[in-house]
Amino acid sequence: MSIHTSMLGQVIEQLIWAFFTCCIFLSGFSHADDQAPKYTFVRETTSAPPILYYNYIMIGGGTCGCPLAATLSQGARVLVLERGSSPYTNPEKINIKNFLNSLFDPSPSSFAQQFISNDGVLNARARVLGDGSVLNAGFYSRAGSRYIRDSGWNETLARNSYEWVENKVVFEPLIMQWQIAVKDGLLEVGVLPYNDFSLDQLYGTKVGGTIFDKDGQRHIAADLLEYVDPKRIFVYLYATVQKIVFKDSSIGITNFGSTIETGSGLSLGHSWSQRLQESFKSVSN
Ligand SMILES: Cc1cc2nc3c(=O)[nH]c(=O)nc-3n(C[C@H](O)[C@H](O)[C@H](O)COP(=O)(O)OP(=O)(O)OC[C@H]3O[C@@H](n4cnc5c(N)ncnc54)[C@H](O)[C@@H]3O)c2cc1C
Repeated sequence: MSIHTSMLGQVIEQLIWAFFTCCIFLSGFSHADDQAPKYTFVRETTSAPPILYYNYIMIGGGTCGCPLAATLSQGARVLVLERGSSPYTNPEKINIKNFLNSLFDPSPSSFAQQFISNDGVLNARARVLGDGSVLNAGFYSRAGSRYIRDSGWNETLARNSYEWVENKVVFEPLIMQWQIAVKDGLLEVGVLPYNDFSLDQLYGTKVGGTIFDKDGQRHIAADLLEYVDPKRIFVYLYATVQKIVFKDSSIGITNFGSTIETGSGLSLGHSWSQRLQESFKSVSN
């Protein structure tokens, strides 16, 4: 009985993912001969010198880490330590036709790390430069203007930031039969008005953005590293950070793969957020 239950659970899970994929994207994409961006500043950890000095150290080159590193590199020296590999070595793996294969790939070189949550749910998290954007369903939408106001964000800066991201990685999806059926169903039950395609948060029904282009190729957070100042950034792959040691003076890193030593006081949270704010100020000015 329990075997049946767990098999049923797996089948349901597969169906949910299939549903999720179909819901947002289109089938029948053909593979494009993608020119994978090759960054000279992305290297394997084994090539790193024993000691490095940076203004900022980003642990994890994920969906947040990549754009943040790109922004900070405009005014400071930045080091990104990513435990995973590069998504650019095999563009085929980040095409929509391999969405489920990549998500459920159990091999050691997989972009996905399977895990079971504390409450027993089978799940996957990314371990690759670009992180979740390399594995996720790719739906994109801006935050609502009320949320932006309530959060105290600068509305102009928020709008410029969205455009900064959208210029590189966001597309209008093609709408085919299945999506039309869902849309018509929503309108029929009164989820109105119909807003057509929009990246804004709106009441009613709309078609949102996608990070898959018309050829089904995924555009990922690591693409935002195209914005970096290449003289001020280094990205190391297979760099799993296990420990951060605080020292009283300059920021340094030793012994990759096991320890990070950093400095400027014991309160990393305080100095970190202060430095971030200063850097954002100087970058946005
Ligand atoms: C299946 C799936 C579908 C999803 N679909 C969508 C969607 O359609 N739209 C949407 O907006 N969101 C979606 N999400 C959620 C979205 O992808 C994540 O919320 C987002 O990517 C998280 O970004 P982050 O930078 O906070 O990632 P994090 O997961 O916090 O980034 C972690 C990064 O740090 C690295 N790392 C972790 N520990 C270490 C360490 N010790 N040393 C060095 N590196 C380390 C990891 O390898 C990774 O690259 C989906 C998620 C999943 C799993």
